[in-house]
Amino acid sequence: MRLSEALLNDEGVVSAKLEFGQCVGFACLRAKVSAKLLVECQRCLEPMHIEVTGKFKFALVHSEEELELLPEELEPLLLEGEEQSIIDLIEDELLLCLPMVTAHKGECSDFMAEQQKKIKADKEASHPFAALKALKDDLSNKVN
Ligand SMILES: [Zn+2]
Repeated sequence: MRLSEALLNDEGVVSAKLEFGQCVGFACLRAKVSAKLLVECQRCLEPMHIEVTGKFKFALVHSEEELELLPEELEPLLLEGEEQSIIDLIEDELLLCLPMVTAHKGECSDFMAEQQKKIKADKEASHPFAALKALKDDLSNKVN
């Protein structure tokens, strides 16, 4: 699955900070990625923005032999003849960073918030005496 299939549209901002360096004698690629993406809320099915961030590190190897020499804790990125697409790499990593469940935090859309307000108002309306008592208290406070 490509990242765009997980999204509602292809709008979004992806930023990546790449750093090449050495780790235990191997050339390494370190990257920090963050993306603001538009996905569907699984609760109300309305669009929602999420922010995902990820950090990864790859050791760059050029052959199978070199791969064998790599310490286990390093994740290899095998560079074969063709040019490697850093974009693909970042895309794969972002896919892994996507939350399993995407839903609005707290209340969903305005529609849902309105519904909840209405339910609350209905509840209050079903206790007219409570409202009356509040009014009476209010009045007596003024008198005192
Ligand atoms: Zn929602």
